[in-house]
Parts: sequence; C-alpha cells; structure tokens
Amino acid sequence: MSDCIFCKIISKEIPAEIIYEDDNTLAFLDINPINVGHTLVIPKAHHENIFDMPEDILSKAVLVLRKVAKSLDKISDGINIGQNNRLAANQLVNHFHFHVIPRFENDGLKHWPGKIYNESEGKSVAEKIRENLE
Ligand code: 5GP
Ligand code: ZN
Repeated sequence: MSDCIFCKIISKEIPAEIIYEDDNTLAFLDINPINVGHTLVIPKAHHENIFDMPEDILSKAVLVLRKVAKSLDKISDGINIGQNNRLAANQLVNHFHFHVIPRFENDGLKHWPGKIYNESEGKSVAEKIRENLE
C-alpha cells in the first residue's frame, strides 16, 4: 500500500528502530511510546485489521509477538498486549499491528474502567455473541 506508513517502514522508505525482522513479520519501536520500549509487531503483508488477516500470517505474527513480549518482560515488571481494530477502537494506522507495552510498578498508567451489567444485559449480549460466532 503506497500511502501506508507501516508499509514504508517495512520497505525502509522511512526509518524506524527495528527490533526483529523475518520474512513474514517486523517489530519496531513505537514512535510515541506509552512506556519506554513500547514495540509494534506487524505482519509485512498489508491487511487493515484482524478481520482481514489470513490465519497463517496471523499465527506467525503471534509467535513474534510472544518473542518480543518475552524480551520486554526481562526489562520491565509486566506486559500489556493491545491490538486496535477500527476508528472507534482508536485504530489510527490501518495496517494490522500489535502493541507490546512494558509496564513498571507505579508507572502511573491506569487500568481501563469496568462497567456493571444490569439484569438481563449479560445473558442477552452473550447470546448475540454466540449467534455471531463463525
Ligand atoms: P493505533 O492507534 O493505530 O493502534 O496505533 C498506531 C501506533 O503507531 C501509535 O502508537 C503511533 O505512535 C505509532 N506510529 C504512528 N506513526 C508511526 C511512525 O511513523 N513510526 C513509528 N515507529 N510508529 C508510528
Ligand atoms: Zn501497510
């Protein structure tokens, strides 16, 4: 994709601090880290989101995701793994990517808040999710 910033990082048209690279997958530092060491793991093939990802490419990227997470785990206190799909979920770059975010005791980041289900809401949404499974 010619206008995709991550494709340009893959082709080395724009620089990035590369952490790991193989034929299928690239890992590099996020330019605006949530914490120092925040790494992005991307398949080299351009697919917009998790719904578009071919299973074999996704599986290979997940193994690299774990490799990077294990490395970051050695220099931090914990790891968050994130993956945003669509604008409503804050996906700003439309090339599938995982965020691997090192966490540190008392790093000041807040966990996202938890809501409470009212009466039948849980059963009803669970039913809808089960119906839509493919
Ligand atoms: P999203 O919100 O799409 O899940 O996250 C996109 C991430 O890509 C953001 O955390 C942002 O900082 C990172 N990013 C955007 N442009 C660049 C870039 O040119 N280089 C690098 N290394 N990271 C980028
Ligand atoms: Zn791309």
